[in-house]
Amino acid sequence: MECGKQYRGRLAPSPTGFLHLGHAATFWAAFARAREHGGVLIFRNEDLDGQRCRPEFVQAMAADLHWYGIEWQEGPDVGGEYGPYVQSERHELYLNAWRELLVGGWIYPCTCSRKELAESASAPHDDNDEPVYPGTCRNQRATTASPGGLNWRFRVPDGERVEFVDGRLGAQSFVAGQDFGDFVVWRRDDVPAYQLAVVVDDAAMRVTEVVRGEDLLRSTARQILLQRALGLETPEYFHCDLMKDHCGVRLAKRHDALSLQKLRNEGVSPERAREMAGAIFAPFTPEK
Ligand code: GLU
Repeated sequence: MECGKQYRGRLAPSPTGFLHLGHAATFWAAFARAREHGGVLIFRNEDLDGQRCRPEFVQAMAADLHWYGIEWQEGPDVGGEYGPYVQSERHELYLNAWRELLVGGWIYPCTCSRKELAESASAPHDDNDEPVYPGTCRNQRATTASPGGLNWRFRVPDGERVEFVDGRLGAQSFVAGQDFGDFVVWRRDDVPAYQLAVVVDDAAMRVTEVVRGEDLLRSTARQILLQRALGLETPEYFHCDLMKDHCGVRLAKRHDALSLQKLRNEGVSPERAREMAGAIFAPFTPEK
């Protein structure tokens, strides 16, 4: 981070289920890093996946994180200079970015109907990352002035190495076209894809460091390419270790046993929940 620049971090949960201890541990790391740097933490509701987002999860995610002991200075509940902090209310910003990518010749319409198109509104975590796109529609020409009705892909520079230094994991390197292919930036149902929305928002909200799970490392490489194409600054990245259950399986929202809701309902205290997370999640043992 440049000298003199205020640290701005973010929590970016999607309301597609109840948050569990694994999320809480990652968000705690984001909270701790913002606090260590005397910075600001933003809460952003990433609710673009209309099929999976539900109002009860929106309400629960903020309440559960507050209960756990995490505080933020900007967000849907507290306001702030860079709102709205709800992605479904930021359509115009994403549309401007889509136009810029179109004018720059970075994107093309794709008529393939693949399962991953349906999934692109959500972040592709390692266990559901998409296969490299074979490039079937790469030479299709754009003839519309608005994105709706077609899927749009970002043309990655094949063979180019995307490198960055992660705050926890050190030097990272991915090869475009091998580690990931042309990815969707806009869906035919007129929903911006996760990759585009997150890049636009991190820049618009002046985020200086992105703290999130290491299953999004490959997406960081995709996002760096988008930042370059849009002329945006690349923030720092800090990818956290993922919490696994006793069988070594990554905790997912379906692991209800460790959901913050369930722990709360069972009368577990926030201190105890933080201890439980700390016991499994060593790198950022929360303070008692
Ligand atoms: N909203 C995304 C998710 O819950 C996280 C995105 C990010 O941190 O960049 O998977």
